[in-house]
Amino acid sequence: NKWLTISAGLVATASLYNAIKTSNKLSMLSPPKESVADLIGNTPMVKMESISKATGCEVYAKMELSNPGGSAKDRVALGIVRAAEKRGLLRPGRPDVVFEGTSGSTGISIATICNALGYKAHISLPDDTSAEKLSLLQGMGAQINKVRPAGIVDPDQYVNAAKRACEDLNSSQQTESRGVFADQFENDANWRVHYEGTGPEIYKQLNGHIDAFIAGCGTGGTISGVSKYLHEQLGANLTVVLADPQGSGFYNRVKYGVMYDRVEQEGTRRRHQVDTIVEGIGLNRVTHNFSQGEAYINDAVRVTDMQAIRMAKYLSVNDGLFIGSSTAINAVAAVKVAKDMDPGSRIVIIACDSGSRHLSKFWKEALAVSSSITLEQVLDEA
Ligand code: PMP
Repeated sequence: NKWLTISAGLVATASLYNAIKTSNKLSMLSPPKESVADLIGNTPMVKMESISKATGCEVYAKMELSNPGGSAKDRVALGIVRAAEKRGLLRPGRPDVVFEGTSGSTGISIATICNALGYKAHISLPDDTSAEKLSLLQGMGAQINKVRPAGIVDPDQYVNAAKRACEDLNSSQQTESRGVFADQFENDANWRVHYEGTGPEIYKQLNGHIDAFIAGCGTGGTISGVSKYLHEQLGANLTVVLADPQGSGFYNRVKYGVMYDRVEQEGTRRRHQVDTIVEGIGLNRVTHNFSQGEAYINDAVRVTDMQAIRMAKYLSVNDGLFIGSSTAINAVAAVKVAKDMDPGSRIVIIACDSGSRHLSKFWKEALAVSSSITLEQVLDEA
């Protein structure tokens, strides 16, 4: 009888404990959102176990790939649209159009936001854009303008083509639609969303204890906005490191103050991208968004394509993190930076997008890497 009472008591305690645990878990759930646009931001953060263990630092990934459109660019697209609405350039309820020249995630994010908010997306891109990105844009019903690949100084280059298509619409008398050119490289709304969103979120998620922040640079919006915010909170206690792929000019710009501007010099170069398999980061010109945060960048790390390819496989196998190419660059940089930091230091990287956006190119190479690759082999300079 005594044992019966004791075990009944134990069962009751256990079920009360479970009920509390479940209710605590459920209390973290947020109520339903009104729109897909409301799902943007407040992204989770995860500790990267394998490289944290190996380096003795705590390395965290800010999971921007959790945004509904699959990347940090959702924040930018929403910021650009809201800023244009404020200025009366986009009118809710009207068939207005957002124009952008992009072969990357920004087009997908603009299409996502436009569909969610009732606008149209018009995306100009080079005709060699990867099949999976083109399919995504087509699936979302974006208007697509394919142009031949050309250098930035060519009027038919895709960013210039987008700007012109927008001007054509705005000068037309035939339609009530109006257009806005998103202009992610130069638009202040870009770095601002990271200054007001991504940066404060990172700070709060780690209770203000951050020693280093690492990001790559495409437009420069992410690194500028986040660094500016974190620098205001942490000052000299924070080290900001730019992770740069091979062939990009940002490494030299940060290290030596010079950037070899191949785009301007060669003119005929395809896009303003560099010769790397990595997509979304690396450039040979100083953009407005980069210059907004340049003062807060302390150092730069160069990462080769092979290091990034091997790191992607390593993190997939060891952590269950299936990441895209620019995230892999950041992760390699984190391991290099950790070597010079005190044990236990906290490093945050941006996990920009998922590997599923990179299956036909970057991940095709990563598939060939052995599943038992070690971190030393990942970092091999060869
Ligand atoms: N990673 C990916 C996959 C991207 O598409 C971009 C943006 N082009 C970046 C990183 C870099 O972000 P930012 O433009 O803010 O420098």
